[in-house]
Amino acid sequence: MGRSAVGHHRANPGRLADHSVIVAAQSVSTHGSSPQRPRSRPKSAVDEFGDGSLAHRTNRHDSTRDELQNDTQEPNACTAPDTDQPYRRRPTPSTRRPIPTATDHKRTRGRVRSASGIEGGKRMTAAIIDLDGTVYRSKTAIPGARDGIERLRDAGVDVAFVTNSATKSRTQCLERLESIGIDAEESEILTSATVTASYVASEYPEATAMAVGEPALFEELSRADVSLTEEPADCDVLVAGKDRSFDFETLTRSLHALEAGATFVGTNRDRKSPTDTGNEPGSGALIAAIEFAAEREPDIVAGKPNDPIIEVSLDHLDADASECLVIGDNPETDIRMGTRAGMTTVLVLTGLVDRTDPAATNGDADHVLESLGAIESVLSTD
Ligand SMILES: [Mg+2]
Repeated sequence: MGRSAVGHHRANPGRLADHSVIVAAQSVSTHGSSPQRPRSRPKSAVDEFGDGSLAHRTNRHDSTRDELQNDTQEPNACTAPDTDQPYRRRPTPSTRRPIPTATDHKRTRGRVRSASGIEGGKRMTAAIIDLDGTVYRSKTAIPGARDGIERLRDAGVDVAFVTNSATKSRTQCLERLESIGIDAEESEILTSATVTASYVASEYPEATAMAVGEPALFEELSRADVSLTEEPADCDVLVAGKDRSFDFETLTRSLHALEAGATFVGTNRDRKSPTDTGNEPGSGALIAAIEFAAEREPDIVAGKPNDPIIEVSLDHLDADASECLVIGDNPETDIRMGTRAGMTTVLVLTGLVDRTDPAATNGDADHVLESLGAIESVLSTD
């Protein structure tokens, strides 16, 4: 079919043989409107298989688009996040498939809830814990993090490790946790790539996507059974994320996909990421390049602090926002996500901000802790 791969997948075209969608990682910007729905397949897309199969697929696309447009009439439809607009939970889409759940993990561990998971007189049943800057920094454990996680578990609080990273797979995150002595399960980990793939699969189940990103993003899209393409003309959804091999050809292909009407989905909008040798550009920087060229903002960004990752996280934990802690080092993503969703927010000073930062003294966080190791003081508040 003459399809070519994007980014790292050029070297491994076999992986994408059955796929056709573009995905972009980290986009922050949000519109006040609902995400654009998949366009009709281009008129040039004749029956290239010679058996009517493409025409059939085209009809399914149109049908799906109509259904999704009807969905947007609901007031609780998942909209692109807009600044201070509060998150409103909507019914779980019937097309969403479950990600391996923390409930299974909880059962296998046989943990017993205690009465100590209480914050401000409210029982906390779940905690969303950021990774970079909260649990580890690069390959190094943050002091106190392991004890804090164990304290939460002992209090009967279900935990989910939720990161905006789209360049590490869940397996790689688990390996990092295990390497620093933290006991966890892969089913407890969500990345912005996981959520983006889940979002595309549930919102555009018949769509073909094209992805700009690293292997972790492609892996998540494949696990979610999202069809992928490398041809901009075949792309219904462009998914964009961090891609350290991003180049002019990738930008050009992304531009062509968006000019042809593809929906634009980002993994997250982080501007930069800390590394051992200094900061490097984040997904938001690459998405901004595509956005500038195409003169189009992303239709939706899946990662923190936006609706898709809130939705998937709460579903994954089977928790209500009112009984959920969110613990992280980033006021713009972690704390803002929790504030929008009505969670109890805990800012830790082991990452992006310290005591001198206004976010630590005048920010929106309900609690400010020196580290995750001090979580006991939150749980014991009454
Ligand atoms: Mg962080």
